[in-house]
This record gives sequence, structure tokens and C-alpha cells, in this order.
Amino acid sequence: MILLIFTLGPLFLTNLVSADFGYDGDDGPSHWGDSHKACLGKQQSPIDIEAKDVTMASYPPLEFSNLQNPHKANLTNNGHTVMIKSVDTELPTISGGPINDTYTFQQLHFHWGQNDRIGSEDLINNHSFSMELHAVFWKKSYETADEAMKHSDGLTVLGYLYQTTDDSNPIFDSIVSRISEIETAGSTITIDDSSVLNKLVAPDIVSAQNYYTYKGSLTTPPCLEIVQWIDFIDPLPISHDQLAAFRNIQSSDGKNVTHNFRPVQPLNGRVIYRNNINEITETPKPTSGSMTTTTLVTTAPTTAAITAPTTAAVTAPTTAPTTAAVTAPTTTVGGKLTKMSTLTITSTRAPTIESINHMDNNGSQHSGQERIWIASPFAVIFGIIFLLPYQ
Ligand SMILES: [Zn+2]
Repeated sequence: MILLIFTLGPLFLTNLVSADFGYDGDDGPSHWGDSHKACLGKQQSPIDIEAKDVTMASYPPLEFSNLQNPHKANLTNNGHTVMIKSVDTELPTISGGPINDTYTFQQLHFHWGQNDRIGSEDLINNHSFSMELHAVFWKKSYETADEAMKHSDGLTVLGYLYQTTDDSNPIFDSIVSRISEIETAGSTITIDDSSVLNKLVAPDIVSAQNYYTYKGSLTTPPCLEIVQWIDFIDPLPISHDQLAAFRNIQSSDGKNVTHNFRPVQPLNGRVIYRNNINEITETPKPTSGSMTTTTLVTTAPTTAAITAPTTAAVTAPTTAPTTAAVTAPTTTVGGKLTKMSTLTITSTRAPTIESINHMDNNGSQHSGQERIWIASPFAVIFGIIFLLPYQ
């Protein structure tokens, strides 16, 4: 027993889950609040997202860094879920979208149900999907994940919905083929596929700007209300057999983890936003520059796009290639067509509102105040109107 505590204790602490909860009976979600008061809070996750009630918003593009580099990835059964972490020093980061800072990848994990009709945590129009992947990122400026968890803006979690299909999804091959080796709680192995993080976190560049976002919590104890949720709307495929393999892992009491999703929680007046997306811009592949940044850009009227014809008419650099080249074959998911895209890497950042306002045609820096005087009064009025909601 002591050995078990030594083995599992650090895992639970570092991976945001506690050892003293389950999904049934006295350990089930309705009892989590007994020992974790935050689970009774007013901004809990998951939630049901009703499409008719969301508020449209235009966010800057989501942007990943270091995601496409090879990463040594460990596969762990922590007694509650299948988890993938990287032990690399250069971890992927995310910025843009509804978050105001850079967040560092910590781990990703999965939630599923007893059968393929249920399993996702967040629901859309009260519809449950077969599985949900959570990619957890912590705010880099807090320096450690533990410190980030003490702050209300400490985490960003990306949520990906999966729907079962007859065809297997090759992204899961390197995971599913090894799950039998981590059936015992506390087991960890190293996955052979060094690109598994990239495939799971950026599987579909076309859909990557199509998301809901809201303020919520961890969906497991301690249920801390520190998460900016970004839920991608387009479901991804996983086969029935692939998903079934996940149900073979065991919790610390030796029972199979047949389901590990928390029921939806009250919204309590929170506003859910949907990113305003129209279509992906296709541009030629850049010929130079580092290959470490993935910029996800759409033609949606983001802040930058709206402001560009005004202040940017004077100041915007004209050389910036902006975005990913995208191919978008289709595949059938649950009887519906879903876009499955392949990303060709971009090497330069898209012109953000900041870069547009602070660079001239030679790319040199100017203060925002200096630029305001150069821009026309008309542009200033437009800038105020569109910038105010994003402060
Ligand atoms: Zn989760």
C-alpha cells in the first residue's frame, strides 16, 4: 500500500487529479463537493452549450508553437483516464484566441462513456459525443503549473469532441496498440510516435478556429474554477474498437474505467462565446523562416482584419505571409461529412492588431500613440469602436 501511495501520489498531484474520487456511488460526482468545496461553485464544468444562446465574438487566431517538433510522449494510466505527457524541456505553447497570454502544454487526457452514445463532458444542444479529449495548458508567466493553479486565469483547456465511426482513425494507432500495457493504475510507458501530440492537438486546421469558449473549472476534483475552455465544434472520428480499448484501463481498485465523464453543471448566467469564423485563407507556403510556429488564420472579421483597412492602411507591413496552406479532404463521421485537413506549416506570424499598429512598411517599431496621430480621425474612431470590447 505504501508503495502504491508513493507510486500514485506524485502522479495525481502533478496531473491535476485526486485519488479520492470516482464516477459511481459514494465516490461519484454528486459527492465530490463533500471533500472538495470548489466542486459546488458557480462556474463549474462541464456544461451544455445551447447554440441558440451563444454570443458571437471575433478573436485573434489561435497559434501553437513547438507543437510540430518531435516530442517524447509518455502514456499513463492515472487510475481515472489515459493521459499523455511530454517530458521535453521545449513544450508546445498556445496563444491567441480568447486568451491574453502564452500557455504551456501540460498534459492531455480523455473522457468516455459506457457506450458510444455518451462520453463527452461538454454537450452541444444537449447532445453527447462518444469521447472528449482535453489538452491542458498552464499560463507560462506563472512559471509552474502548480503556481498557475492558484490563479483564476491559470489554465486553458482545449476540448475536442470525438464521434465513433466504423473506420479506425490512424492518429490513435500508437495509443490504442499500447493501452494493454497500462491497464494497471499507475502504469506509464513511452509512445513510439514522436508526433502524437501534434496529431492530437492540431488534427484539423480548418476547424481549429471554429470553437465555443467560456470560463469554467476542472471537471475532476479539486474542480478549481481557473479554466478558459475552448471547445472545438467539429467532431473528429474514432472507431468503436479504438474507443473500446480505453475502457480496459483499471482504476486503483482494479475495476475497469468504463466511464469517466462528469455530468453537466449549471451555467449560472455565464456567457458562452462562439468565434466568428467564415473560411480559411489559403496562401502560398512561405519559403523561409523558422518552422516552429503554427498560425491558424481565417478570413473571419477578427480584430486585426477589421482594423486593417484603417490604421493598417498607413502602417501595416506588406511582406507578411500570414497563414497555413491547407488541404481539406473529407471523411465520413457518424454519417455526416466532416472536414479532415492536413496542415502545411506557416513560418511567420499573422499580422496581429498589435503588429499592425506598431510596425511601418520597413517593419520598424513605433509607439501606438505616434501611430494614432498619423492615422486619420476616421481610423481612430473605428479603432475605438472595435478595440474597446477586447480590453
Ligand atoms: Zn478532462
